[in-house]
Amino acid sequence: MNKAVFFDRDGIVNSRIYCGYVTSPEDFVFIEDFFSLFNFIRKQGCLAVVITNQQGVGKGLMTQKDLDDIHDYMQRELAIKTGTKFDAVYSCTDLATVNSFRRKPNPGMLLEAAQDLNINLAASLMIGDSISDVQAGKAAGTRTILVGDFSDIAEADIIAPDINSVLRNFSSILL
Ligand SMILES: [Mg+2]
Repeated sequence: MNKAVFFDRDGIVNSRIYCGYVTSPEDFVFIEDFFSLFNFIRKQGCLAVVITNQQGVGKGLMTQKDLDDIHDYMQRELAIKTGTKFDAVYSCTDLATVNSFRRKPNPGMLLEAAQDLNINLAASLMIGDSISDVQAGKAAGTRTILVGDFSDIAEADIIAPDINSVLRNFSSILL
């Protein structure tokens, strides 16, 4: 079975747009430190999978085609920068108001990925910048890293102030 690192997208792979959505490749700006983290994870032989809520599609602010274009761009740029890309990208376009098993904090997308890619969830890790990422990871049975200023929240296995420190903490959680 495979070990995987599941990445939330906005705020981990690319800069978050506050009070808005990434609706085109032009809006998609990689977080520079993400590349080193990604390279390190690849060297460990882990699969790398994106797990992202994108309710902007459900809200009609962008189309499924816009989202696909953004992810094509993401994969192309990642390949240029690192020589490899994500093994898979799972998106949930359901609205937060709908009771969706796929939408984080629910674990649907992680369970789907585990099935598709033969992933051992207990040996895997979810990295995100929202509590709902941690909740989805826990519900799926992975370990979790929460990135950001969350010093009072004990739910995650590790709380890291930024992507750079995820790399420094990584060996203690997954290896
Ligand atoms: Mg996020």
